[in-house]
Amino acid sequence: MGIIGHQKKLSYLQNFLNRGFLFPAFLFEGPEKIGKRTIAKEFIRGMQCEKTILGGCGSCPACINANAGHDTMVIDDVLAARCQTKELSYDPYGIEGVGHLMAFAHTTPLRAQYKIILIDNAHRLSFEAQNKLLKILEEPPSYCIFIFVSHKPESLIRTIRSRCLVVQFGLVPRNHILEYLDSKQS
Ligand SMILES: [Zn+2]
Repeated sequence: MGIIGHQKKLSYLQNFLNRGFLFPAFLFEGPEKIGKRTIAKEFIRGMQCEKTILGGCGSCPACINANAGHDTMVIDDVLAARCQTKELSYDPYGIEGVGHLMAFAHTTPLRAQYKIILIDNAHRLSFEAQNKLLKILEEPPSYCIFIFVSHKPESLIRTIRSRCLVVQFGLVPRNHILEYLDSKQS
């Protein structure tokens, strides 16, 4: 999978998938650039996979369709940059962005079991956007799962945080990185 460290977190998430027990909202928090977003994406693939394998098996119909991205929405810096270049007419982290997100959430999944909304750098959501988002988090459609990823979770309003299952990521121990690099060379 190309993910180093975080073994405990990965098995924790795999357990969720095994039991079919998914929470309506997750918050992946921890320092910047340690792979939270990558793991969130692997988790999403696992949720959509018929075999519920973290990262997806890659070959079941659900995985193939999940790759087409019908039932997953990603809000991230790349999308926000498209607003700056005027390719996108609204700020995905603003109130209008949340409007689009809610329209997406309120239509049933096309092919997969779940509709998943990944909000990377969720602390970029404006205060108004967060308040609007709260309405759907209070009564999310049964098939909907939110994953917030943030290295500044304190910028999320308390009422959002309290509705999330927090998965806390720490720095990857240096020896894990060295072991990984060694294994790549040998
Ligand atoms: Zn699969």
